Amino acid sequence: MVKMVNGRAIARKSNDSVKEKIAGIVSGGGGPLKLVSVSVGSNEGARIYMAMQKRAAEYVGIDFETIELPGATSQEELFALINELNGDRGVTAMIVQSPVPARIDHNRAVAAVAPFKDAEGIHPYNLGKILRMEADIVPCTPGAVMKILRNIGCELYGKEVVIIGHSAIVGKPLSLMMLNENATTTVCHLATSEKGDIISHSRKADILVVAAGAAGLVKSGWIKEGAVVVDVGINKVDGGVVGDVDPRAASEKASYLTPVPGGVGPVTVSILMRNVLRAYLEQKG
Ligand code: NAD
Repeated sequence: MVKMVNGRAIARKSNDSVKEKIAGIVSGGGGPLKLVSVSVGSNEGARIYMAMQKRAAEYVGIDFETIELPGATSQEELFALINELNGDRGVTAMIVQSPVPARIDHNRAVAAVAPFKDAEGIHPYNLGKILRMEADIVPCTPGAVMKILRNIGCELYGKEVVIIGHSAIVGKPLSLMMLNENATTTVCHLATSEKGDIISHSRKADILVVAAGAAGLVKSGWIKEGAVVVDVGINKVDGGVVGDVDPRAASEKASYLTPVPGGVGPVTVSILMRNVLRAYLEQKG
């Protein structure tokens, strides 16, 4: 019988721990901690994500400021603002919300953020530290997957892991984080599917992580009996949100399954809060 992972409960536990630590900092005369959200133009998806970030920040005791730049903002103007926030001692960390208008290079904007103020853990320096097993501020979604696995008592040592999706913010850093825990890691992507090899890979997985952005991609025949299945996908279908895994089919085979919504998503936001705390501690040495 499949166990559904309660991402909201895991996120609450993590947020409570961050909240307690921040309260300790403030009562000791430190802080306040402040997270600044920078967005360029308006985007419905980003707005929903920002509302979740704001709610979590308020809960844990982090000041949350939003700076909404007009859609016509130039790359230079955005970089000037990022520079200013880098130098502002009252700002603990920032997020450059995605998407940005096509004129602006989001990767360059993220790289302009000081690594010790990188709330999302996606600055090249922080991503590089994963290679050396020195990561402290980690990319939020891979961090969430690792936290979920720890919470359900799923050891990675020697396990066969298959990750579907090789983006720079989810699949690639997650594969390194799992490799660091001595899992045997296979990363699949569109070309694996096109070559017809994806099912033979996914069926071997003790732990299957799916981050493709393709609704219902993973069916029963893709899953090994007893596998832990982590569904990262968020897809809008018929006015609702579904993952990349067909939940009914996965329930027949998996030992654990993360639901969408209520699985990886809330834990991702809790890792963002933990990153802001870590950024503060790093800045204080
Ligand atoms: P992306 O578009 O950057 O990358 C998608 C990856 O999936 C690529 O590696 C691509 O090759 C692969 N892929 C796509 N279709 C495939 C198929 N049919 N077979 C095999 N591989 C396929 O996406 P991303 O930013 O990594 O996000 C992936 C999904 O995760 C999206 O649905 C996104 O909304 C979701 N997401 C969720 C969270 C969260 O917190 N829950 C965070 C980030 C992204």
